[in-house]
Amino acid sequence: MDQVVKDVFRAEGTAVNWALLREGRDLTLVDGGYPGDVGAVLASIAAIGHRPEDVRAVLVTHAHVDHVGALNHLHERYGTPALMHPDEVANATGERHESATPADVARRAWRPSVLRWSLAITRAGGTQHPVAVHAEAFEPGTPLDLPGRPVPVHLPGHTSGSAAFVLPAAGVVLTGDALVTGHPLLRGSGPQLLPGFFHHDLDAARTSLARLGAVEAGLVVPGHGAPWRGDLARATERAARLIA
Ligand SMILES: [Zn+2]
Repeated sequence: MDQVVKDVFRAEGTAVNWALLREGRDLTLVDGGYPGDVGAVLASIAAIGHRPEDVRAVLVTHAHVDHVGALNHLHERYGTPALMHPDEVANATGERHESATPADVARRAWRPSVLRWSLAITRAGGTQHPVAVHAEAFEPGTPLDLPGRPVPVHLPGHTSGSAAFVLPAAGVVLTGDALVTGHPLLRGSGPQLLPGFFHHDLDAARTSLARLGAVEAGLVVPGHGAPWRGDLARATERAARLIA
């Protein structure tokens, strides 16, 4: 668990990140790890002196299995709502599937790093399709009335309803998988997209990089990889060039 800036914390589970935004006694949890990461999510809340009851909502960058693991636990125990872009709700409720298949991953499993990762995520529930029937849409485009006052930015491509969350006062953007900085399936680190087969619509993901590049934030907290500080416009241009 690191505090990336005041009241913004980032924790890492099974090669995936989530974040906690603090405002007084209240928290917003951004993403929820794999199903096997629920204990680690709860531990990260405790590590900053909070209780799960303090989480006002889970904000979801996108509803892939590595980002929604804690949603049902928090909803069943504490009634915590799960909010996401309107175009993402069907992915969370299981009415739609926009994710890579185990076969996509298996084709690449000859690399030792990929094999290690795929065994780890399988143990963490990575082959499941968790369904969160309580998923709700937030109102896009306006600051959300939640701790941290995150502003959603719709970045379709990785999934139809992928979103980043900008924290204007902190100069931070939480990018989910619309821009990552490291992953066991990537050869290098730094701002880039995940491999193409992970994206529902790679062309849209490329277009969304330009939209993300216009966001004013100097610190990226991605869904995968370490926080990154720098010029976001240049970073997203570089990420778009790496696809081509
Ligand atoms: Zn992910």
